[in-house]
Amino acid sequence: MEKPFRAVIIGAGPTGLALGNMLAAAHIDFVILERHDRVVTESGACIMLWPHSTRVLDQLGLLDAAAAESLGLHSKVTIDPLGRQQSEYPTFQWIGENHGYPTLHLPRTRLTKLLYEGLGEHRSKIKVSSSISAIDANEDGVCVTLSDGSMETGSIVIGCDGVHSHVREYTKADGVPFEASPQVTQFECLFGTASSIPGLQRGIFWESHSPGMVTQFGTSDKIAAFSLFRTLEETATEENRSYDTDSVPRFFKEHGENFIAPGFQVRDLQKHCTWTRLARQPEGSAKLWYHGRIVLCGESAVQMSSVMGMGFNAALQSAVCLANSLYEVTRQTSPNPTVEVLTGIFGDYQQRRETETVEIKDVSANYIRAMTSSSWLTMMVIKYLLPWLWGEKSMMKKLGTESISHGRTLSFIPYQDKHGLIPWRS
Ligand SMILES: Cc1cc2nc3c(=O)[nH]c(=O)nc-3n(C[C@H](O)[C@H](O)[C@H](O)COP(=O)(O)OP(=O)(O)OC[C@H]3O[C@@H](n4cnc5c(N)ncnc54)[C@H](O)[C@@H]3O)c2cc1C
Repeated sequence: MEKPFRAVIIGAGPTGLALGNMLAAAHIDFVILERHDRVVTESGACIMLWPHSTRVLDQLGLLDAAAAESLGLHSKVTIDPLGRQQSEYPTFQWIGENHGYPTLHLPRTRLTKLLYEGLGEHRSKIKVSSSISAIDANEDGVCVTLSDGSMETGSIVIGCDGVHSHVREYTKADGVPFEASPQVTQFECLFGTASSIPGLQRGIFWESHSPGMVTQFGTSDKIAAFSLFRTLEETATEENRSYDTDSVPRFFKEHGENFIAPGFQVRDLQKHCTWTRLARQPEGSAKLWYHGRIVLCGESAVQMSSVMGMGFNAALQSAVCLANSLYEVTRQTSPNPTVEVLTGIFGDYQQRRETETVEIKDVSANYIRAMTSSSWLTMMVIKYLLPWLWGEKSMMKKLGTESISHGRTLSFIPYQDKHGLIPWRS
């Protein structure tokens, strides 16, 4: 008898866990293989979820739990490197009013916990300490060999294994590799979490811009989160991405005088830090997101600067698109679709998601370059001329109309949409 359809997801990061929640709701069998020994670990940056993402969380029944974990930021305040306030707008409140769903800011640990707990009884489908060493794919299915020699079989492999994806590099039996455009990077970011900062205003997302640097920071009564971006002196490739043990203290020392909120400098932040990481910010996209029974989703397919807070939001949209297609195909065809059928589905998936995601990547790339520009003319245009011409509210309306309102939902979960000033297009 033919085996039922089963997806082998590689990686229990936000994308793999979100996809697991979606496949569980679609009654599609899956396993998630994670190389670390735990799913929820203290790690990662604060992830801003835009309304097209909180809409999907609502469909999955996770919105209230997500809101409870959010830093509760409603306004954006820009300051200069000396800590002087330049502008204040209720940006996140406006975005919420535009779309009927909130923007939420969740430290990655809280986001993965939320998605992990959302799996309920399906949590047993996650296998930790499972690093892949080989993938065999043929006409009948896939077989993933793990580094301990054990195997997982299924119908497809979904590579949710992040920036340094092993699945992306995987060469199929016919020798055709996934070709990725070179992942180069001109920026690095020191990010992490800190204990709640006493005396600083709550509900504010503080952002500062100066030549070569952008800082983002917010604190709630329980936790603070920060991302400090800086331009690298030389464009780096993936080969030379390692840091030594002094890199983080050196970063703090070099930028200790920078203000990240009024009266609060980088060196003050250092004393409160509970977790930090310095990492390059690769920008690139895989040319081919699929091959045979193997498909990429999330940062394994497209990597972008995180300055606009769009990477996971884009990944979640890709996961929705993929889950909808898998739901349709498993309903319409015999349990195990042929490679030909899958190639059609995956090709369609890439076509629909690539243009949108690469566009977001490019906007993020332009934004960080403009914000860190050492050209005063560019800085003046971005900081004064554009806001004066457009205004923050109009810019959020434009972004909402052109991008956020096109967000997708899961076709297989009956759902009553909430609405704001800008109608949903899909
Ligand atoms: C400073 C910073 C700020 C950010 N802010 C935002 C934001 O505000 N909004 C937003 O949308 N995005 C933001 N992002 C981006 C967001 O963090 C990523 O888009 C998101 O983490 C991608 O999730 P992922 O699951 O695709 O990959 P990852 O988070 O990298 O997860 C990959 C998972 O796969 C596992 N894995 C890797 N290799 C293997 C293997 N061989 N076998 C088994 N498991 C494996 C890893 O251990 C990991 O658990 C930010 C990123 C940074 C760095």
